[in-house]
Amino acid sequence: MSQDQELSDDQRIEALYQAGYDIAQICKNGHIINTEANLQPQHNQWYCSRCGAECIARCPACKMFIRGEYLHNNHSLNLGFTRPKFCANCGDAYPWTKIAIQTAKELADELDSLTDDEKAILKQSIDGIVKDTPQTKIAATRFAKLMVKGGKEAASIAKEVLVDVMSEVAKKTIFPS
Ligand SMILES: [Zn+2]
Ligand SMILES: [Zn+2]
Repeated sequence: MSQDQELSDDQRIEALYQAGYDIAQICKNGHIINTEANLQPQHNQWYCSRCGAECIARCPACKMFIRGEYLHNNHSLNLGFTRPKFCANCGDAYPWTKIAIQTAKELADELDSLTDDEKAILKQSIDGIVKDTPQTKIAATRFAKLMVKGGKEAASIAKEVLVDVMSEVAKKTIFPS
């Protein structure tokens, strides 16, 4: 999908329409490639130099650009960029969020110390800890309990996989230190 990488004039207009944000280019695994993909297209990459995955600048579901740096008079305010988990336009999870959830659920299926029911609850809780909702804390508590039963090694893999897509509330509940 070449239109994801090569920004046309139409796309620039659409980008400006986006409340003063530049466009972010991120690889499908979640490596941040360029947070000013429109102003500084020389830093764009077709494929990620760290993992080889395709780089995207739009939501695959609705095609809206991924918000990059916040701009003032066409200059970045360098407020710091936080990689989004969900599309602000359609609410779909971005590929890196989906990959992390999927990977963690596959890990849950591998945990022989859990019953099938417990595996199902653990997988449900993984969906719950990614989102900031009133249920996040409950999901995080369930997740933490079942990961204790799942074993130390699995818990540390799960942390690595999920830490960047977990909600802050869930992080504090699961890793209080
Ligand atoms: Zn990558
Ligand atoms: Zn979208």
